[in-house]
Amino acid sequence: MARNHIQEEYINKAAKGRMLNKHEIVELLLIEDEDRLQALFEAARKIKQKIFSNKVFLYGFLYFSTWCRNDCNFCYFRKSNVIDRYRKTPAEVLDIAKRLADSGVHLIDLTMGEDMKYHAENFESLLDIVERIKKSIGLPVMISTGVLKNEIIDAFAKLGTEWYALYQETHNRELFKKLRVFQDYDERMNAKLYAQRKGMLIEEGILTGVGETLEDIAESLLAMGKINANQVRVMSFIPQKGTPMENIKTPDRNMELKIIAILRLMYPYALIPASLDVDGISGLKNRIRAGANVVTSIIPPKEGLMGVAQNSKDVDDGGRTVEGVRTILSEMGMELATVQEYRSYIENNFHARRICS
Ligand code: SF4
Repeated sequence: MARNHIQEEYINKAAKGRMLNKHEIVELLLIEDEDRLQALFEAARKIKQKIFSNKVFLYGFLYFSTWCRNDCNFCYFRKSNVIDRYRKTPAEVLDIAKRLADSGVHLIDLTMGEDMKYHAENFESLLDIVERIKKSIGLPVMISTGVLKNEIIDAFAKLGTEWYALYQETHNRELFKKLRVFQDYDERMNAKLYAQRKGMLIEEGILTGVGETLEDIAESLLAMGKINANQVRVMSFIPQKGTPMENIKTPDRNMELKIIAILRLMYPYALIPASLDVDGISGLKNRIRAGANVVTSIIPPKEGLMGVAQNSKDVDDGGRTVEGVRTILSEMGMELATVQEYRSYIENNFHARRICS
């Protein structure tokens, strides 16, 4: 059978709810023909529409400390990179979280590098921030704080912290060693699995364009289902100045879009981000069209805050705001969900159902 027909058959198979295997995922990642590509995106969109209607969720991104003890080769904030860094005070974090909430986001994502102020001292102030956000702001919270010890995860879980985001970036252990140098693959994986056992929702993610093969990507997509991650993401690698990978080119965006679409086909109920952190606001439409249903990296302007992959793109000119996103979504016939809809979704769906059924 011609490759186009095989790819079409796999798209149809997945659209009917049958799980893709590694070989089939690789075949879909190989799609280049424009008609097949559009068929893939359309199949993913239809599934998203059926489950989520035209509703989209928004996450406020609060990167409150850019200090980190690690040296990930792809990251601008790796400890060896000589850059300006900041650490926001608890009062500043709460103030920004409040303004993000007032602007209409559905969740506050509290992100930091593995800042020694927390990891070597204690997490009391961060626990206090989470408690205050939950009490006085009332939004769900995601922590993206790097690898945490079990007792710290216990403390966040006890507070009712909804999400723990911790990306492997790849599920190829050899590649992991090259990307997240001197870090332990199992320690990272086990931390998120422990959080899940403690009742937290987990987000898993990969980077594309970092030397992985199509088979590696397929393995990662299958691994996300095996651990039953509730939110699954892919981001394209962006070369960062001053890092060992600064001369590696960013990949063609079709790979990220294909992965988003395949994730939607494989995991219809998952939350799948369209991150503004890769291509800014101009990259939003394509990612939503490929099957994403969460806009991440909403950053308030003029707060001295940074993104991760694109640390300043569209931030201070207000491009990463709720209003900027709302305008684009309404042009696409999509709508922002309400906070209650987001809350109901995470409460009703995740605890009752696996992401793939
Ligand atoms: S990816 Fe995270 S853990 Fe790695 S250097 Fe960057 S901030 Fe640190």
